[in-house]
Amino acid sequence: MTKVRQLPYGEPAEKGLNVRLVMEEASRCLLCEDAPCSHDCPAGTDPGRFIRSIRFRNFTGACKTIRHNNILGASCAEICPQERLCEKACSRCGIDKPIQIGKLQAFAMEQERLLGLKILEAAPSCGKKVACIGAGPSGLAVAAELAKLGVSVTVYDENEKAGGMLRYGITPSRLSDEIIDQDIKAVESLGVKFELSRRIDKNELDKLVAQYDAVYVGVGLSASKMIPNLKGTDLKGVETALAFLKRARIAGGKIEDLGRVVIIGGGDVAMDCASTAKQCGAKSVYVAFIETLETMPASKRELDYIVDLGVPVIPAFKPVQLNGEDHVTSVELAAMEGNSKITLDADTVIFAVGQKVQDDYKGMTSDGKIFVGGDLANGGKTVVEAVASGKDIAGEIAKFLHI
Ligand code: SF4
Repeated sequence: MTKVRQLPYGEPAEKGLNVRLVMEEASRCLLCEDAPCSHDCPAGTDPGRFIRSIRFRNFTGACKTIRHNNILGASCAEICPQERLCEKACSRCGIDKPIQIGKLQAFAMEQERLLGLKILEAAPSCGKKVACIGAGPSGLAVAAELAKLGVSVTVYDENEKAGGMLRYGITPSRLSDEIIDQDIKAVESLGVKFELSRRIDKNELDKLVAQYDAVYVGVGLSASKMIPNLKGTDLKGVETALAFLKRARIAGGKIEDLGRVVIIGGGDVAMDCASTAKQCGAKSVYVAFIETLETMPASKRELDYIVDLGVPVIPAFKPVQLNGEDHVTSVELAAMEGNSKITLDADTVIFAVGQKVQDDYKGMTSDGKIFVGGDLANGGKTVVEAVASGKDIAGEIAKFLHI
């Protein structure tokens, strides 16, 4: 019988490499000229270069390469889908197996944290001011890149803490507060200021446009989608993935009375909800999604993790109705093909069926002093792609400001 893992809320899902294993792994690197791994990192983190530094035990040099190229280097090391990007491109794939680039990056970033290395510093002022709305991945990247050019940047966010989807859309077993805080500290070390718990609506936006030389809107996809016309979604006990992950993060996993949980959705966010519900002491957790196991959007790593935690998954089924009088009591599911039906008892139903733009920013495009980017412009991609988009937009803003 397979042993079911039991982890407390926030406990890391995977262990890092120790220094001996790191050196062994780095010594497998072929030190490729014009490294394919570096070509395939959307944010230009340049693994070929930082692995070379690690190989020669120059850990500070490795941190410098990562930080200068990717301001969210610590978070990306943990949550990037390396198996689809740098590791897939690695030359060692043709020999045996790719270098564990994510693990080497995580080790370098751990050195920065443990040794308190100060890699970045504020640049002399160029006299320009920019506001960034949204302290998520693209907002942080835009802020950091502009600050490096001497721009005075203030980041506004409606949440109490910076990080956006990093903090409130991912479970801490995959990305801890400590690692997010490390990346935020790197942004702050460039002189960037944060105005948190401050929601910027259309009126406030107009004021910021008048006050600043440019405004970046990178609010991301911070509202959750629901399945339209599904009976019972207004019952008590029904919530969205983002609301659930956020309240779990704020409560440090101390959520009671989840009871029997059913999660609808087959992406990484749904997997995060499943592990979170399990770690918060739910009586039972099921995940149902419309895709097959082969076509579901979640990464294999995240699916394997919830299966290890003993969460059953129900592929190729869709919800057709939620039952209950005041509070939800069950979910009816129907097979995508054929006539099979399943009814699952439920006290909590969580919908992880995608995210959308907040109403305030719907349809917004770059115009004059306003620049739009990140998930708001490209419809929701990975964190490393949001960093890449942030770097591009920072370049456009710099050009606009003639710096
Ligand atoms: S592609 Fe692989 S082997 Fe080549 S430099 Fe990158 S990590 Fe090393």
